[in-house]
Amino acid sequence: MILDRIAGAAKEAGRAASDVTLVAVSKLQPQEKIAAMLDTGQRVFGENRVQEAAARWGDGNRREGLELRLIGPLQSNKAAEAVALFDVIETVDREKIAGALAEAMAKAGRRPRLYVQVNTGEEPQKAGVAPGEADGFIGVCRARYGLVVEGLMCIPPESEPAGPHFALLAKIAARNGVGKLSMGMSGDFETAVRFGATSVRVGTALFGAR
Ligand SMILES: *Cc1c(COP(=O)(O)O)cnc(C)c1O
Repeated sequence: MILDRIAGAAKEAGRAASDVTLVAVSKLQPQEKIAAMLDTGQRVFGENRVQEAAARWGDGNRREGLELRLIGPLQSNKAAEAVALFDVIETVDREKIAGALAEAMAKAGRRPRLYVQVNTGEEPQKAGVAPGEADGFIGVCRARYGLVVEGLMCIPPESEPAGPHFALLAKIAARNGVGKLSMGMSGDFETAVRFGATSVRVGTALFGAR
C-alpha cells in the first residue's frame, strides 16, 4: 500500500508521515478507479490537463474536501480556467504564466497555492525554469506579480538517479525560503521522501497502468 510505503520512508528519514501528502495522479484513469480511490478517503488528486480535469472534477462533480492539483504545463489562455478549478498549480515556470495567474486570481478573488517547476535536469523537452534561473524567477514572481510561491516541483530525467535532482530542488527551495517540495512519482517516491518531499505524485503505482 502506497501510504504505508510513504510512512515507512518518512520514518526512516526521521520525518512524520503526516508531513508528506499523497497526490493521487488521476489523469487518464477510468472513473471507476477514481471512485474507488475516493471511497478509501483519498482527497488530493493531480491532473495534468486543464480540460480533462474540468470534465472529471468540474461543476457538479466536485467532492467535499477535494484538493485538486495541476501538475502539467499551463498555457496562459487557460489561466482563468485553472484558477477557477485548481487548489494548487504546480507548474509556474515563466513570466507570462505568472502574470496571467496574477491577473486571473485578482479577477476571480480566488488564490490557488502556487509552485514553481524547476527543470533540474535541464532537459530541452521538459517544462520548468533552469536551476540557474530559479532564484531570479521566484524573485520576479514575488516582487513583480505579488505571488506567494509555496513550493517547488520537479520531474527528474528518466535516465538518471533521482536523488541528486531531489537534493538540488531542496537546496533551491531552502535558499529561497520556499517550504514545500513536490517530488517523487511511482518509481521514486520513497527516495523523494528521504530527500524532503512534502508531497509525492503517484499515478500508476496507485491505479495501475494508464
Ligand atoms: C503522470 C505524472 C505523474 C505520475 O506518474 P506515475 O509514474 O504514473 O506515478 C507525476 N507527475 C507528473 C508531473 C505527471 O505528469
